[in-house]
Amino acid sequence: ATPTSIMVGTGRAAELGVLFRNGEALQSLKSTSVVALDKTGTLTAGKPVMTDLDVASGFDRAKVLALVAAVEAQSEHPVAAAIVAAARDEGLALAETGSFEAVPGFGVSASVGTHRVDVGADRYMARLGISVQDFAETAIRMGYKAKTPLYAAVDGKLAAVIAVSDPIKPTTPQAIRALHDLGLKVAMITGDNRRTAEAIAAQLGIDEVVAEVLPDGKVDAIKRLRSGGRAVTFVGDGINDAPALAEADVGIAIGTGTDVAIESADVVLMSGDLLGVTNAIALSKATIANIR
Ligand code: ADP
Ligand code: MG
Repeated sequence: ATPTSIMVGTGRAAELGVLFRNGEALQSLKSTSVVALDKTGTLTAGKPVMTDLDVASGFDRAKVLALVAAVEAQSEHPVAAAIVAAARDEGLALAETGSFEAVPGFGVSASVGTHRVDVGADRYMARLGISVQDFAETAIRMGYKAKTPLYAAVDGKLAAVIAVSDPIKPTTPQAIRALHDLGLKVAMITGDNRRTAEAIAAQLGIDEVVAEVLPDGKVDAIKRLRSGGRAVTFVGDGINDAPALAEADVGIAIGTGTDVAIESADVVLMSGDLLGVTNAIALSKATIANIR
């Protein structure tokens, strides 16, 4: 493409709320064949709510919720905010915590009074040697409903299974349809539970799911999606999306996302929705067509 057509294309994109941070992206987007999307905060609102909390026998529901929320009050993960909000809604007071530890992609732990409290995914409990067997069926049902099951342990004993649900952004279904209409494959990359990820993918008609990815595993996921010579565009918003945004043939950041994601991306969508992805690809095709 000529410098002039790139300038015109970049200008038109900006009017549509799509910022190209470099001219190469405008040229290369047209040849993308897979659009891979982060789940939390990209396909979904990134504002989960707590929907369920089932306690194990012998545990008091309000006590467990208060302990878990006290720990989560120290965490910056979106699921933490959901649990803290639920505890506040129930009028529970959150105690002080000590020796807080966050294990990215797994969960969090802290001491609350005389208790040790651990909260996280099934793999976090596995790592701590705590069996989640008693809640296996409940967790499976939560996953099928597109909810994320989390587990809480108090003093090393499984105390509760918690479900959080993160609503799909209203524009996401239309955006996925538009990508399919352009003949593209759509993939999801997430650290979330496989069953939950697959339930959301099924609702949206997403073609490929890469779930239970550790925070530093998204780059490998992009490399795998690229096999067979497919050009991959990755769309994400989080701190842990930054390496994948840099690795992808084109990285697109959600403008409402973290600064690190925006700095690592080739394209930034000013609005929080995914319709901008289709606009960006369509503009790339039009810009290249113009110079023929
Ligand atoms: P994602 O943002 O896609 O869920 P993460 O790598 O941030 O991926 O987290 C993976 C999983 O680890 C989460 O889905 C959740 O089950 C668990 N997890 C991470 N942080 C916390 C936390 N503060 N409290 C409970 N669970 C957590
Ligand atoms: Mg995200």
